[in-house]
Amino acid sequence: MKALYFDGKRLEFREDYPMPERRSGEALIRVRYAGICGTDLEILRGYAEFRGVLGHEFVGEVVEADDESLIGERVVGEINIGCGECEFCKKGLEKHCANRLALGIRGKDGAFAEYLTLPEKNLHRVPEEISDTEAVFTEPLAAAYEILTQLHLKPSWKALLLGDGRLGQLIAQVLRHHVDLTVVGRHQRKLELLRDLGINAIMFNELDRSMRFDVVVDATGNPNAVLEAIKLVKPMGFLILKTTTSKPSKMPLSEIVVNEIIVIGSRCGPFKPALNALKERLIKVDYMIDGIYPITDWKKAFEKAMSRETLKIILKM
Ligand SMILES: [Zn+2]
Ligand SMILES: [Zn+2]
Repeated sequence: MKALYFDGKRLEFREDYPMPERRSGEALIRVRYAGICGTDLEILRGYAEFRGVLGHEFVGEVVEADDESLIGERVVGEINIGCGECEFCKKGLEKHCANRLALGIRGKDGAFAEYLTLPEKNLHRVPEEISDTEAVFTEPLAAAYEILTQLHLKPSWKALLLGDGRLGQLIAQVLRHHVDLTVVGRHQRKLELLRDLGINAIMFNELDRSMRFDVVVDATGNPNAVLEAIKLVKPMGFLILKTTTSKPSKMPLSEIVVNEIIVIGSRCGPFKPALNALKERLIKVDYMIDGIYPITDWKKAFEKAMSRETLKIILKM
């Protein structure tokens, strides 16, 4: 099958990559579309030391499964695969299993290929109201919803979101219903897109830096943004970190301690509210698509994805 393989140095297109072998409890899925995400670009820069087929945001159809009712269904999939035995797996927290695999990120071939396998319990049927290309956003949108599972936001709170990129656009749309939200970014076009949705979005240099917020979310992808973010949190406020990067970060310890700031790391989230929000049109995603490329045009697709002006690039298998 066709696949995009990362050997630790470079990404390459393979025409005759071996088909994944379906184990018991797993489904074999024919991938229709897969999204290129910031994490994929970080992996190419060395994050997670991954070797294999990249890609973890996808929509596809089940071609083989133990559970026959799944066959032919259009699905998206949660990416973490736990050992099934440890205390985290037993609580349904596979994403924190020490021995986990993660699709296209950790020990498991991913979605930039014609086929992939995932445990059947990781799969979610896609409601027919959601198009294929919208469904590709389920995984990152779930990561945005994770914030709501971690912190009880109060409507009176002032919140600041740093980052107008792929994840920032989704987080902004989730948070706007819960807090008084301001988004700051560095890209006029991306901020304009947020404003079109009715979200208060300004350039970083337009922000009144004497302001303090109850909660600040860093979704910049920049390891140094935390240095700015921490200064904008009220004493005893919350700092939520979404940036995953291969680069080291200088967390400003004393400011966290002195101001008693509560720091929350935040990663993968629940698929159900994400699918529901897409189905109910609570969240818009189509406007973020800056290109759909066949997998054979992967070079162009990645070049475009790496441009700072680009939001979402999607590969068609
Ligand atoms: Zn991702
Ligand atoms: Zn486990």
